[in-house]
Amino acid sequence: MEVNGIPNVRTCIAPLLEGVAVRMQDRLASWPQNNTDNAFVSTVQDIDILIVGAGPAGMEAALQAATFGASVLLVDENQRVGGQLIKQTHKFFGSKEEKAGTRGISIAKDLEDQLCDDRFKDKIDVLLDATVFGFYEDDTEDRYTFGVISRKEYKSRLIKVVCRSVIFTVGAMENMLLFPGNDLPGVYGAGAVQTLMNVYGVKPGERVLMVGAGNVGLIVGYQLLQAGIKVDRVVEAAPTIGGYHVHAAKLRRCSVPIYTRHSIKEVFGADCVKGAVVVELDDHWNPIQGSEEIVTCDTVCLAVGLTPSTRLLEQIGVDMALVPEAGGYIALHDERMQTSVPRVYVAGDSSGIEEASTAMIEGKIAGAMAAKQLGYQQEKAQTAYEGFLKELKRLRAGPFGAKPRDAKQRIQRLWRKRP
Ligand SMILES: Cc1cc2nc3c(=O)[nH]c(=O)nc-3n(C[C@H](O)[C@H](O)[C@H](O)COP(=O)(O)OP(=O)(O)OC[C@H]3O[C@@H](n4cnc5c(N)ncnc54)[C@H](O)[C@@H]3O)c2cc1C
Repeated sequence: MEVNGIPNVRTCIAPLLEGVAVRMQDRLASWPQNNTDNAFVSTVQDIDILIVGAGPAGMEAALQAATFGASVLLVDENQRVGGQLIKQTHKFFGSKEEKAGTRGISIAKDLEDQLCDDRFKDKIDVLLDATVFGFYEDDTEDRYTFGVISRKEYKSRLIKVVCRSVIFTVGAMENMLLFPGNDLPGVYGAGAVQTLMNVYGVKPGERVLMVGAGNVGLIVGYQLLQAGIKVDRVVEAAPTIGGYHVHAAKLRRCSVPIYTRHSIKEVFGADCVKGAVVVELDDHWNPIQGSEEIVTCDTVCLAVGLTPSTRLLEQIGVDMALVPEAGGYIALHDERMQTSVPRVYVAGDSSGIEEASTAMIEGKIAGAMAAKQLGYQQEKAQTAYEGFLKELKRLRAGPFGAKPRDAKQRIQRLWRKRP
């Protein structure tokens, strides 16, 4: 939408302010005009490392890079730091070292407190409500230039960021399914449902059909029950439940059935969801004729996986490859999280879909290695890196780490095969 004259605003994450002017935008945006309500100022910021995205990976990357002495600008399009963690009210699974048993929101708070520590006052600058929208080529050999738009209270400010190194910790986007009616109000991604309930305290509906029985579908399904919302059932296209059985057991104890080899066929309703049709699938994932069943619901929640966000990385021209185990097209990177473009790093979900625990360690690796490459405390940064690498390997050992372990091994094989 166009908000107070600023085009391309994602109104799902924009604040509602008194007197704000919101307009439909049905064409390509034109460049915002200078006007008194919408002061348009352009500034330049010159720093060592730009970190795009302040989720767990970005925050850890900033803390590490600053620990070794680099100056950091940490940018996030939301109004607070934390990324996905700010909506995760459940206690984390995994091992104690990676904060298992702690709620996601508490992990975000802990990292935020560390960013505000006096030690980092002159090293870390956090810019919220701002989007890094593009990479620009210029003649400076050892510098990169990015365009950032800051929209604090809809006063747009264009910032030219000039940096020596950049770390992308931009996370992932939710996957959508194709079926008739998927654009009706009431069809949500699981992340949106979590944001409504856990960030804003708003019920998305009264009766929900959950699609997907991975950890996200199971955890959000249980959170819906906790919010007093009826979950009719969970349908899962795969022959087995993808998430941890402890989460599935919680739903089943509350009498929510989980149907594997089932999917959604369509959603019906005139201007909002009134119900959905679910269908059984055969061994080849095709709908079995005659197995259709109508589910009465006002909300359909899609928890069908995530795709790494890689658009800015592609724009810079890093080597990419399709790695389905990692969630889609991936910026190839080595164990130091360095991509094929010098001094450009990637970490967390944008380097392959995994978990906050591994995102944090990847962030630490990228932060330490970026600082080292710029000449800061090289020996200490190298020692820290070796420790983080061991942590990462330990975390991915064992049966639950098999998928990300295979994905990362494949990424590194492809990395080594590059011309
Ligand atoms: C329901 C659910 C339950 C989960 N439970 C667990 C669990 O128990 N344990 C666990 O370890 N993990 C869990 N996870 C996974 C975990 O939340 C993610 O793996 C983790 O948040 C990834 O961290 P990240 O820093 O890579 O990305 P994110 O947390 O997604 O952060 C990326 C940030 O970058 C910002 N951004 C993107 N593009 C731009 C741009 N161009 N300019 C500015 N900012 C930008 C985004 O707005 C976002 O704030 C769960 C996930 C979900 C959805």
